[in-house]
Amino acid sequence: MHRIEMSAPLVEIDGDEMTRVLWQLIKDELLMPFIDLKTEYYDLGLQNRNKTNDQVTIEAANAIKKHIVGVKCATITPNKQRMDEYPELTEMWKSPNATIRSILDGTVFRAPIIIDCIEPTVRTWEKPITIARHAYGDVYMATEHKTDDAVWLTQHNNLASIRSFAKACFEYAIETQQDLWFSTKDTISKIYDGEFKAIFENEFENYKKQFETLGIEYFYTLIDDAVARVVRCKGGFIWACKNYDGDVMSDMISSAFGSLAMMTSVLVSPDGNFAYEAAHGTVTRHYYRYLDAQKPSTNPIATIFAWTGALRKRGELDGNTPLAQFASKLENASLDTLKSGTMTADLAPLTKTGFNAHVVNSWEFISEIAKKLV
Ligand code: NAP
Ligand code: MG
Repeated sequence: MHRIEMSAPLVEIDGDEMTRVLWQLIKDELLMPFIDLKTEYYDLGLQNRNKTNDQVTIEAANAIKKHIVGVKCATITPNKQRMDEYPELTEMWKSPNATIRSILDGTVFRAPIIIDCIEPTVRTWEKPITIARHAYGDVYMATEHKTDDAVWLTQHNNLASIRSFAKACFEYAIETQQDLWFSTKDTISKIYDGEFKAIFENEFENYKKQFETLGIEYFYTLIDDAVARVVRCKGGFIWACKNYDGDVMSDMISSAFGSLAMMTSVLVSPDGNFAYEAAHGTVTRHYYRYLDAQKPSTNPIATIFAWTGALRKRGELDGNTPLAQFASKLENASLDTLKSGTMTADLAPLTKTGFNAHVVNSWEFISEIAKKLV
């Protein structure tokens, strides 16, 4: 069979545990039979991060700057418990995502994958809500301090980073033709959040015309008002959030739409680089079952969509239509498999009453998708 050629590589960032197992399976069954896959490979598995004193994470981020498009597998962020689990660790390495985000800067866009047979918990939601999370600063780079009778926190953000966050949001709204909401707590945090609000307003002037032409809106409101509106809206817009709000709200949005395993994520940097990944973690509990010689029913959809997002972007940038078309074909094959009722165990309980779901393990699920590609 003729395989699709690639003229430029993707930066492939491997990860940990169950998602690492799925990663290889997706490549073997869904990608390599159809594409002459060209990647620059970085192993961000915890052992290799430890072996390289985490240099491999920095190299991977810089490689995305060079090749523009990357795809990343979920990775372990070590904590105290992981230090006991992996006694060879020489340090409690930082979150690879935080390292990559601080090198690339930019904004993380997270959108749920919606299918008819799964009803969102919020009845009014008809279309996806995309969270645009600022990926720099605030509490994630804060200094904390404890004195005898108090706890203290100092956090910062860079005006340039806030401005590129605003730009990325306006541009993404135009690209996807959706309204943009932005929320902070500027009535309380008059200087810090006030600056976010002012920069967005100021930056919007540059996009106003395009918004008018497309018939889309920019809407600013307080974070608590935004939350109240979100739970009774129809969806179909982008909700820009500061770093922490975005962290919390994206988990709320994904679980209310269905499952964390159905949430895609892309980091868009101000200089136009893209890093695609699944929004969920390494699914540790399933991995231990896998090590115990079981075949878990872990949902690979978000990881598949990380690959298709990256392949489509590569295809668009290189004028490689067959590659972009293959990305859509693989997405459709995945969704058709779900619609036909074949799904992983996380999704079956979420289906509409009367829908006939057939639960399979990850291997069976991926091979069902593969059948639809030939
Ligand atoms: P998690 O890996 O997302 O898993 C939490 C639970 O959600 C799982 O135990 C599972 O529930 C369910 N789940 C998540 N993804 C699923 C999938 N694809 N299919 C089916 N069920 C899925 O989060 P965690 O357990 O908090 O974190 C595990 C590790 O991942 C940690 O070391 C953390 O540092 C890392 N992490 C990495 C990233 C990233 O790289 N982007 C993000 C978050 C967390 P059941 O067990 O009930 O089936
Ligand atoms: Mg979170």
